[in-house]
Amino acid sequence: MAASAASKPTPMMAQYLALREEAGDALLFYRMGDFFELFFEDAKQAAAILDIALTTRGEHNGAPIPMCGVPVHSAESYLARLIKAGCRVAIAEQVETPDEAKARAKREGTPSSKVLVGRAIVRLVTAGTLTEEALLEPRSANLLVALAELREAVGLAAVDVSTGAMVLEECEAAQLGAALARLSPSEVVVPEDWAHGPEDAIFRPRSTFGSDAGAERLKALHKVATLDAFGAFTRAMLAAAGGLISYLDHVGRGSLPLLLPPVLRETHSTMAMDTATRASLEILESTSGGRAGSLIGAVDRCVTGAGSRLLAEDLSAPLLNAIAIEARLALVQFWRDRPIERTQLRDSLRAIPDLGRALGRVVAGRGSPRDLGQLRDGLCEAMRLHHWLGNAPDRPVLLDEAIIRLTGHGALTDLLSRALVPSPPTERSSGGFIADGYDPALDELRATSGDARRAIAAMEARYREETGIATLKIRHNGVLGYFIEVSARHADRLMAPESGFTHRQTMKDAVRFNSLRLHEEAARIAEAAGHAIAAEEAHFETLVGEVVAAREAIAATAAALARLDVGAGNAERAAEGDWCRPDISEDGGLSITAGRHPVVEAALAKAGERFVANDCLLAEDNRLWLVGGPNMGGKSTFLRQNALIVLLAQAGCFVPASAARVGPVDRLFSRVGAADNLARGRSTFMVEMVETAAILAQATDRSFVILDEVGRGTSTYDGLALAWAVAEAVHSQIRCRCLFATHYHELARLAETCDALSLHHVRAREWQGDLVLLHEMAEGPADRSYGLAVARLAGVPAQVVERARAVLEKLEATREATGGIAAGLGDLPLFAALHTEPAPASPEQRLAEALRAADLDALAPREALDLLYEWKRAL
Ligand code: ADP
Repeated sequence: MAASAASKPTPMMAQYLALREEAGDALLFYRMGDFFELFFEDAKQAAAILDIALTTRGEHNGAPIPMCGVPVHSAESYLARLIKAGCRVAIAEQVETPDEAKARAKREGTPSSKVLVGRAIVRLVTAGTLTEEALLEPRSANLLVALAELREAVGLAAVDVSTGAMVLEECEAAQLGAALARLSPSEVVVPEDWAHGPEDAIFRPRSTFGSDAGAERLKALHKVATLDAFGAFTRAMLAAAGGLISYLDHVGRGSLPLLLPPVLRETHSTMAMDTATRASLEILESTSGGRAGSLIGAVDRCVTGAGSRLLAEDLSAPLLNAIAIEARLALVQFWRDRPIERTQLRDSLRAIPDLGRALGRVVAGRGSPRDLGQLRDGLCEAMRLHHWLGNAPDRPVLLDEAIIRLTGHGALTDLLSRALVPSPPTERSSGGFIADGYDPALDELRATSGDARRAIAAMEARYREETGIATLKIRHNGVLGYFIEVSARHADRLMAPESGFTHRQTMKDAVRFNSLRLHEEAARIAEAAGHAIAAEEAHFETLVGEVVAAREAIAATAAALARLDVGAGNAERAAEGDWCRPDISEDGGLSITAGRHPVVEAALAKAGERFVANDCLLAEDNRLWLVGGPNMGGKSTFLRQNALIVLLAQAGCFVPASAARVGPVDRLFSRVGAADNLARGRSTFMVEMVETAAILAQATDRSFVILDEVGRGTSTYDGLALAWAVAEAVHSQIRCRCLFATHYHELARLAETCDALSLHHVRAREWQGDLVLLHEMAEGPADRSYGLAVARLAGVPAQVVERARAVLEKLEATREATGGIAAGLGDLPLFAALHTEPAPASPEQRLAEALRAADLDALAPREALDLLYEWKRAL
């Protein structure tokens, strides 16, 4: 970038600026020799993100030009960091050699001083269009999603460019958030006038989202006359697909990545979960970010990246159809019952490379010889598994389906095995990956250069003899090629014109020479090597062509291996934790015996503590459990563990319980009240209420709702009133299964009017002044709040706790006198309208009820005494 003060830009600057303009909002990686260089604002931004030196080079309009650069050979790791930081990068490569540039200049009549190597943007690197191994998480899918709206319906086209898997679906605009939460794309593409979000979507010309054009592109890609064989896609889906493919054209500059035939996703085939639910259940990511502490982190025992990706998909979209769920469970059961074979299968899978992604790179034109080697090894192993599994008796359906897809690659693996060396290199340009014996002409070229190398070695000995210089060496470097080197004090002998040596270079201690014979042998080597590389290059292209032709079958094999890995991994997990196979029933109940929370249990186990298993029995006439009890008693854990067990069951996994019977849930909702902290502001509470309102609008009687301290983030009166109203609506209007945790004792009164609501609590005891949390569910209302004991447990100073106790006594006295803050609620017309049992029970009736419900065998003497005191107080 030569200096130029406010004058006409240099040719290079002009070229740079044109490319810069074309790159739009992407950073421009401008190739100069062995470096990608960035200039101006790009340089500042990249240097800050990458923490590399920012320098200057030349001037533009009188000011120094900021610059930074990254070496081409390690560009991937820098790209990875820029993409992670949310950047997009345009790669401008040199598209001709200096010689070609000179020849072009001559044709065009440009003076040779102005010759500039042609450069062009060959690719845009964006988060959603990566294929490079180094830029991808092996265990997560990387989705690019395009959206289009047609008459109220939103079409979604999702593709994982790294494996080519493409799914088309449709939803209502109101459901878009939930659909995107399920897909969790890295990049979203929308038409320029799009108004539904997400905020960081990439806008593209509306004209690229045509449904006819989309259908035509898909037909052409897959060489079919109609798309009917793939599914009955709607116009909105096809418009989205059109936008997606056009965007891929744009970022790949005309070269498309692997795209497999689109799969239609039926709108209501999976359990719906909105963003808030996914976040609160920490399915793929914990609240603190990352897999650690998430459901998948506790469940995943897959041994391949593809297996983990499929498991993530299963957990993100649990099924509704009992037959489909049972099919997955049967596969898990099969491997659960065969521990030895399971280990063999997993050992074999562990050694299989990521076929789907290697295929993705090869089809995208970014494959390496190593990728071909991976395909060879993976496909060979798949065919071995095909034979091995084919002999197994009592095979479940999914195993049979997988077995069929593991084979059919004989010709390709044979070709790749013959053609490639055992471990081909990642670098393709220096050759060396085609096996000896595959191509006689190539063998000959290699023999020639081998001969020449040997001739050079012989020449060294001969020259030593002829010159009498025992230290004479023939050496090689990248600049001079082959040369003869002697120490400075022997140089004179070779300088003589008749010696046959020509001087090349004088170093501090050594002098370098050439000779005609050496030159001839070196030329033989160079020529043979050049031809050999060209021959290998040609073979590479042919092999790539064969792989591309077999792409659908290879992708099917990769998918079958992933399904086997998920089945065996889930079996491994089940065996490890003594998990059970859930029963999928159509009766709409939920009955879990000795259920556990997989994440909390694992965390406790690490600390050497035991998790207390709990039952949960929801049925048509007992569908809402109100769960009370002290803070830290285990309410949230109980709620979530049941939601997670339902989710796992419908995803086709075994579950952490000793028995489970699940009536499929169509929508799962999980809501957690904002922290008690009013200082977090009304907006948090607003969010909570908006999310809660969504339940009331969307839940059906087949849904499952867990509500954890809803209403907590506001004043006591507001909070109690909201919690009351929500519980009532869920019970009497939606009539779905629900677990509702609350610390409002007053809500217990709902049991008087809601016939399918029952009261439960997590048990705790005060023992010699200390609070003991038993983490055990019991029937009946929570006896008291233990708030002060919890405070002491948390380290609040004794005098503060004592003061609080005095205040509490005063408050409780007032409550007894007035009936508490819930006094009179039973008379509210709004609530009364929903009453099924008009007369509230008298204290005597309630006492009789409590006596009947008390399980005397389960009571510790101290608890029995507590109860007696309590009953006496109540009379
Ligand atoms: P709450 O919602 O009642 O405040 P949590 O569900 O958050 O209580 O549980 C608090 C802590 O108690 C958890 O972090 C866990 O360590 C422990 N815990 C919860 N449930 C159990 C259980 N069933 N067995 C053992 N420990 C538990």
